[in-house]
Amino acid sequence: MGDTARRAPAGTAGHLVLDGLAKTYPGKDGAAVRGIDLAVERGSMLAVLGPSGCGKSTTLRMIAGLVPPTAGTVRVDGRDITDSPVHRRDMGVVFQSYALFPHLDVARNIAFGLEMRKVPKTELKRRVDDALSLVRLGHLAGRRIAQLSGGQQQRVALARALVVEPAVLLLDEPLSNLDARLRSAMRDEICRIQRETGVTTVFVTHDQQEALSMADRVAVMNHGRIEQVGTPEDIYERPARPFVAEFVGRANLLDGTAGDPDGERTSVELPGLGTVSAAGARVARGRTAVVMLRPHRIALTAAAPGTGGARGTVLSAGYAGETVAYRVRVGDTGPVLDVERPTGAQRSFGPGAEVELSWDPEAPRLVAAVEDSEPAEAAEPVRESLS
Ligand code: ADP
Ligand code: MG
Repeated sequence: MGDTARRAPAGTAGHLVLDGLAKTYPGKDGAAVRGIDLAVERGSMLAVLGPSGCGKSTTLRMIAGLVPPTAGTVRVDGRDITDSPVHRRDMGVVFQSYALFPHLDVARNIAFGLEMRKVPKTELKRRVDDALSLVRLGHLAGRRIAQLSGGQQQRVALARALVVEPAVLLLDEPLSNLDARLRSAMRDEICRIQRETGVTTVFVTHDQQEALSMADRVAVMNHGRIEQVGTPEDIYERPARPFVAEFVGRANLLDGTAGDPDGERTSVELPGLGTVSAAGARVARGRTAVVMLRPHRIALTAAAPGTGGARGTVLSAGYAGETVAYRVRVGDTGPVLDVERPTGAQRSFGPGAEVELSWDPEAPRLVAAVEDSEPAEAAEPVRESLS
């Protein structure tokens, strides 16, 4: 539409660093957030991904200045703002509920932050117009909030956060109130707006698809801690812990016995499935190793006499349009694997079918980081606490 003439502050501000950030709410047992270290490059988009209650909103609110941390620091471009009041932080916040003023029209909602900052009339008008065109709502400036759809309200909330030209934009589950189709359109919109403004962005979500498809980097959170930070591909292809493997995408996690290291890889004996050579965590010889196999990386063929591969029996087959989701028992008493195969050219199998399982050599990943130095007895509890 060519309606987005706006300055691009990319690279000028917004390097966000969290150091040991922690929160225990008064009167609550246990910490909500247990010491978070995180750096967000200026101009980049970070997703904080984790299950409900893991401390995502608390973390975001500590960055925004809405919740005082129990410990740790928040810095932007080297400046410690841990104790700065909300309005001195140079941050824009969009809440799950949007928190718009229902009795004001769209333009007045967006102007609010500029009025608080006593921005002169003509500049205020220009900046509100710019923000309106950035979110493509120029035609609705005079509408009341109650007359807007969910997606339009979401755009107003974004414009209101961005109009103050913040160094950092914070979004708490920004899409969770929208229906599935609108959600996917707004994903693209938020990415476009983030690119055009170049604003450093942190968004919180429990939706792995949202995190993987939108963010430059993803921080996976669990029980108040960050389990792993990396690119979407790092997180999905190279999960560092069993929790990450299971929370992001679907995963078969198989216990095996580590054999000899082989360069970057370790050979692992998996009961019923034979020996695999897997890269990832380092596990000392003889210890229990956890190997991840994604369901879509496993191929099924009809079991034929004389072939030596891993055998299994189909327990169930769930047709899902583009794919079939199988449950396959390995051997007679082995583990049950999730297997996902595309429909179409592929041959399909019904319950009771005898199949052979195979995968390419890069598919298995070692995910349990059991330290070499730990005594053998410690290996099991350590893994328990991670999964
Ligand atoms: P998430 O956003 O990941 O769902 P939250 O940060 O909202 O998680 O909550 C983390 C934990 O802190 C939860 O156990 C929640 O019950 C608790 N909590 C959140 N806000 C408050 C509060 N204002 N007072 C007391 N406990 C809270
Ligand atoms: Mg939350």
